[in-house]
Amino acid sequence: MKHLVVATRNKGKILEINALLAGLVDEVSSAADYVDFPETIEDGATFEENALKKAREASCFSGLPALADDSGLVVDALDGRPGVLSARFAGNDADDTANNARLLEECQNVPDDNRQAAFVCVLAFVTPEGVERVFTGRVAGRILYAAKGDGGFGYDPLFMVDGFGRSMAELELTEKNAISHRAQAFMKFREYLETIV
Ligand code: IMP
Repeated sequence: MKHLVVATRNKGKILEINALLAGLVDEVSSAADYVDFPETIEDGATFEENALKKAREASCFSGLPALADDSGLVVDALDGRPGVLSARFAGNDADDTANNARLLEECQNVPDDNRQAAFVCVLAFVTPEGVERVFTGRVAGRILYAAKGDGGFGYDPLFMVDGFGRSMAELELTEKNAISHRAQAFMKFREYLETIV
């Protein structure tokens, strides 16, 4: 593929995606390369709706195949919340500390055997010709009673990763990047891309 646009301004994500698409895409642009790239309103009820909406707007605006992701934490005992509201669980201007405090508070009376949760990432790929594909990555775990570890970001310190005996914030970055919901969704996309380019 000659040219693809990624609907994000997040420098970390742009670097990650560039590395991942090396050899499959000649040129990767991002929202940061345009002055008036559309700011998609993420009002979907699901990660898939939001990711598709962002990718559609990015493709329409740029005239290029576009890639967009949406991710977050899904807690079984909270009926899937914070879900699409993960970034603003404690309010519109909430930071990670406030969101984590809200999560602990909402889970304080949830018993040990009902604290299952998952990080989910949905990646949407949309082309000007009308191709629309979504790729989902998921990592399972449990919500802790207090923060553990100081790596990662977001809800990582409150998320005990199934099968690791450590919180997501206690994993080395290379370990997280090998198993994360984002990594899984991106690997699926890469496999798909290998079949079409
Ligand atoms: P985004 O869709 O990647 O911007 O993620 C939305 C929100 O989900 C973030 O602000 C975090 O609160 C949460 N989140 C997504 N991925 C992770 C992760 O890998 N660790 C911890 N929190 C995450």
